[in-house]
Amino acid sequence: MSNHALEELLTAYRPIWALNHASAIFEWDTETYMPLDGAKSRGFAQAEVALMKQRYMKTLEPLIVHVQKLQDLGDRERGVLRVLRRELEYYQKVPPSLIEELEKITAEATVVWRDARRKSDFELYTPFLEKIVELKRAEAEKLGYVGHPYNALLDLFEEDLTTIEVDRMFSGLVPELKRILEKVTTESIFPSSHPLEHIEYARDDMNRVNLEVLHVLGMPENNFRMDVSTHPFTVGMSLDDVRITTRYEGRSFRESMYSVIHECGHALYELQIDRSLEYTPLAGGTSLGVHESQSRFWENIVGRTREFTELIYPMLRKYLKFLSAYDEDQVYRYFNMVRPNSIRVAADELTYNFHIVLRYELEKKLIAGDVRVDEAPSIWNEMMEKYLGIKPKSLAEGILQDVHWSGGMIGYFPTYSLGNVLSAMILDRMQHDLDLRSTVKEGKMSVLKEWLRQHVHQWGATYSPKELQEKLFGEQYTPKPLVRYLEMKYLGEP
Ligand SMILES: [Zn+2]
Repeated sequence: MSNHALEELLTAYRPIWALNHASAIFEWDTETYMPLDGAKSRGFAQAEVALMKQRYMKTLEPLIVHVQKLQDLGDRERGVLRVLRRELEYYQKVPPSLIEELEKITAEATVVWRDARRKSDFELYTPFLEKIVELKRAEAEKLGYVGHPYNALLDLFEEDLTTIEVDRMFSGLVPELKRILEKVTTESIFPSSHPLEHIEYARDDMNRVNLEVLHVLGMPENNFRMDVSTHPFTVGMSLDDVRITTRYEGRSFRESMYSVIHECGHALYELQIDRSLEYTPLAGGTSLGVHESQSRFWENIVGRTREFTELIYPMLRKYLKFLSAYDEDQVYRYFNMVRPNSIRVAADELTYNFHIVLRYELEKKLIAGDVRVDEAPSIWNEMMEKYLGIKPKSLAEGILQDVHWSGGMIGYFPTYSLGNVLSAMILDRMQHDLDLRSTVKEGKMSVLKEWLRQHVHQWGATYSPKELQEKLFGEQYTPKPLVRYLEMKYLGEP
C-alpha cells in the first residue's frame, strides 16, 4: 500500500491491532490456564481494554474520512476502509451505555446459564435471557436494518447476510436432508451406534494421536500450541501464532480427534494469510461463515473420507491398542455414524443443520417479539420433534445446551450452516483443479493447503464474504453442492 494517507491510517491502526492481540491472549488464558478466582480481575481488564479500543477507534475517523475521498483505490485499500468503516459505524451508532449494559448482563448471564444448565432449570435463566433479547433488539434498532430486525444482528457476524438468504438456504437444505436422513436410517451402511463409542482411552495416548494428526495435516510446528479447554476453540494471536484447544472426555476417541481437525482448519486459515497484511485490519479471516467453511472442510470433507481413515489407521493402531480388534472399515463407519441426537455439538454431518435451523427460527421470532422467552423451551422441543423426530431428555440437553445466548450472541448460529454450505461449494470448485480423494489417499495435504491458501486464505479480510464468493464461485450461497455431496456419500448416488 503505497499511498501516503493510507500509510498514515495503517500506522494509526497499530495500537488497535495491539489491543486486539492483548484481548486474544486474555481470552485464551481465561479458557485454559487462569485460576478460578482470576475471573473478576480478568473481566475488569477486558472491559478496560474494550473501552480503550472503542475510544481509540473513534480517533481514526478523520483519517478514514480522508482516505475515503481518494481515487483509484486498489482491492487492499478498499478492504482496509471497508473493515474500519464497519467497526467505526458500530461504535458511532450504538451508544456506550448500551454496550456497557450488554457487557454487564452477559457477564452475569453466563454464570447464571451455567447454573441453570446444571440444574436443568430454565426459570432461573429466563429474566436474563429476556433482558438480553430486549437489549439485542435495541441494538438492532440503533444499528438500523432493511426488512427484519434480525438482519442487523446477522450482519455483526456475517457481513451483509440477510434472513431472505438464510431462509432460501434452509428451504433448499431441510427437505433434502430429511429425505437423505430417512433413507440412511433404513438402508445405508452407516450405523447409528458403534462399540468404539464406549471404549475408554488414556489421555496421553490420545494427545499423541492428536499431535500426529496435526502433523499429517501439515500444521507448522513453530506457529501453534494445543491446550485443553471445556469447549474447543481457536484464537489467532498473530499470523505466526495461533492457539487451538481440544478436550479429552476419556471415551469415544473420535470426539477429541475431530475437534482437533476442526480447530486446525480454523488455524490454517489464519496462518496462511499473506504476511504483508500483518498488523493491518485485514490480518484475520473475513467472516465467521468463511472461517467455519475452513474448519468443516478439514473436519468433514477431508477428515471423514475413507481415504483419510486409511491414511491415519496405522498411526491410530500404534497409539490406541484397542483398535487391533477393529479394521479400517469399522473405524471408518465409526467416524461416520448417523444418529439424530438432541445435542448440537455431537451431531453428525447429516443432522447438524437441523440444529441450526431450529435455533435460527427461534431467534428470529424472539427478536421480532413473536415469541416470549418463557414460551421458548416448549417451542424448542416442538421443533426438535419436527426436524429430528426426538425429544430432549431435559432442558439441559435442550434449550439450555448452548453458551451463545448468554454471551449475547444472537445471530451467530446461521454462520455454522453457512460454513457447511460453503465447504461443499469449495469442494466443487477445488475438484476443477485436483481430485480431493486421491490427494488425501496419497497424504498430500500440502496440495490442499496450497489450493486453499491461493483461493481463500491469502487475502485475509481484503474481500467481504460476498465478494470472496463472487470471485471464487461466481455465485452466492447455494446449498446444492452440499446436498449433492451428502447424497453421494451417504446414499452413493448423485
Ligand atoms: Zn468452528
